[in-house]
Amino acid sequence: MKIRSKITITLLSISCAVIVAADFFSVVTLENYFRSRILGELKRQGSEIELIVRSPFVSDSAGYRRLQHFAHMAEIRVTLIDREGTVAFESEIAQAQLGQIENHLHRPEVEDAFRTGYGTSIRKSATLDVDMLYLARKIVPATEQTGFLHDVAVIRLGIPLTLVNMLMDELRSKVILASIAVLLFVLVATIFLSRKLASPIVEIDRIAAMIRAGDLHQRLPIHSRDELGSLSGTLNAMLDNLNVDIAQLKKLERVRSEFLGNVSHELRTPIFAIQGMLETLLQGAIEDPDVSREFVQRALQNTKRLNALLGDLIEISRIESGDMKMSFRYFDVGEFLDEVVKEMLPVAASRSIALSSAGAPADTLIYGDKERLRQVMNNLIDNAVKYTPENGRVTVAAALSADRVTISVQDTGTGIAPEHIARIFERFYRVDRERSREAGGTGLGLAIVKHIIEAHGSSVEVRSEPGKGSTFTFTLRASHETKKHQEDQSS
Ligand code: ADP
Repeated sequence: MKIRSKITITLLSISCAVIVAADFFSVVTLENYFRSRILGELKRQGSEIELIVRSPFVSDSAGYRRLQHFAHMAEIRVTLIDREGTVAFESEIAQAQLGQIENHLHRPEVEDAFRTGYGTSIRKSATLDVDMLYLARKIVPATEQTGFLHDVAVIRLGIPLTLVNMLMDELRSKVILASIAVLLFVLVATIFLSRKLASPIVEIDRIAAMIRAGDLHQRLPIHSRDELGSLSGTLNAMLDNLNVDIAQLKKLERVRSEFLGNVSHELRTPIFAIQGMLETLLQGAIEDPDVSREFVQRALQNTKRLNALLGDLIEISRIESGDMKMSFRYFDVGEFLDEVVKEMLPVAASRSIALSSAGAPADTLIYGDKERLRQVMNNLIDNAVKYTPENGRVTVAAALSADRVTISVQDTGTGIAPEHIARIFERFYRVDRERSREAGGTGLGLAIVKHIIEAHGSSVEVRSEPGKGSTFTFTLRASHETKKHQEDQSS
């Protein structure tokens, strides 16, 4: 069901209930008012009849006629009843026929009058066959024992309700007509109101459907500062976030396919080279021992490159997929740097580069994954050696400040121009592609370094001056106490 219909039906039902209740209340109130007016009138007439009953009469028949005359003038029915319920006077019947009237002791109003002094009832008269309102009143019997009315105990007055009923019928039909008119007005107002109330919802629904169909640039209108306005605001904010997310996903997707393209390209170069060499060998070069030796050597070189590339690729995909489990602990920074330098000495020596450690603060522990950090140092030192001309120098150092240790790898190499510095950590980004290849670089070394250092909650800084050299630094959490503490524990 449409929300507009729901609002219309709800408002109409409420209006109907209110109108019916109001009608009922007003009709009942008016009816009661009329009745109490009539009863008041009957009471007054009852008092007058009591006066007549009390007055001494010349004869029974004269008294009877006088009472009948009074009843006719007042347009009421009067019945006088004695203590036993026998009817002593009845305005609608001649005195001679009184004997035919049945005993009135058990008429409800008469019973009430005997019990409480006063009684009323509305019912169909057995004698006259019309709806009657009766009022009965007990009176104190006359003191004089004369006259036909001396033993009357109850005066009962009755009035036909035909007039009242007619009036009430007319009133009811007028009230119903007025109610129908009000309802029609309410119906029109309700339709108008529900349309107005539902229109922002209908609009939100319409635009939401457009958004669902893929138009993510649609925004929901905010017409009011109520819950609907706030809902639209929330949905709009969600859409904004969604758009940002989608933009990010698209970028990621672009980066991914770019990466895939780069990977294929990087793989193809050495494979082509190997293929070319093998073909040359088969075409006859294999017969010349010197040439064939050189070709096989070069092919081997290329397979080593492939191996390095695949190694770095596996590493980087493990890091990026979150598969890399880090195991953090405290270890001595001085010992660590000594080990790293010792490991890399042959590489540096092969290019006549002086590699040394400038020393580290004594008894200082750094917190991190030692094996991953060893990989970081190897990559940084390897780069420093690769991009430093022969007879240059590479220095590894560590400095303690407050609770952190800064580790640096400094070289006297080619340096990196400022415009490249921001990009060298990107995968496959190289300042000089040929030079990197010749030196056996994969273009992934710094990307791996960046990932590992970031996993330590830190970042890599580069200071470089083209022609003079570069310094790569990063900081780690350090502890001076812990080493002592550990030693205390182990001794
Ligand atoms: P690659 O395998 O090519 O060395 P990296 O990711 O390790 O890849 O380095 C990216 C690029 O950053 C290198 O190609 C080089 O141009 C530049 N670079 C890295 N380290 C140094 C350095 N110490 N001195 C000069 N250039 C450097």
